[in-house]
Amino acid sequence: MNHQHALTKLEGRTDRILAWASEQGIPVSPVPEHARPVEDTELDPSRLSKGITLGAHTWSHANLAALGPDAILDELVLCKDWLSERSSRQLPWLAYPYGLRNTSAAAVAADCFEGALLVSGGRAVRRGRRVAERALTPRLNVPRGLSLEGLSLRLSGFLT
Ligand SMILES: [Zn+2]
Repeated sequence: MNHQHALTKLEGRTDRILAWASEQGIPVSPVPEHARPVEDTELDPSRLSKGITLGAHTWSHANLAALGPDAILDELVLCKDWLSERSSRQLPWLAYPYGLRNTSAAAVAADCFEGALLVSGGRAVRRGRRVAERALTPRLNVPRGLSLEGLSLRLSGFLT
């Protein structure tokens, strides 16, 4: 149940989780290079590959479902403002950390962004009509090596 403790009591905040793990004597491995966030200088549009855009993922990677409305708003606004000050490639979209949200988090996200992405679940379109709120948009995984035809089939809803 360590992950539930980390996501609820510690609110999913990395600094709190690492401090708690240290107190518990739980070994912590360094984050591999490929999984680390970029540095400020790497957000400069001239350094980003063509077609790359940036979206928000909260200020401290907190579990928004564990926070109150004011803390949720802080997480979203700090991140959105920070990104917009540093890059013209920012899109007004959020990806919920851990894919976790509640009604309050989705409402605040809807006020701050054009849309927000789930990690799993949800349904955006049914029979050609949008059925999901933009703040509850399903995320589509596009695995490496997927052909354009395969992507077309996934987008059509034929393959899920
Ligand atoms: Zn994340």
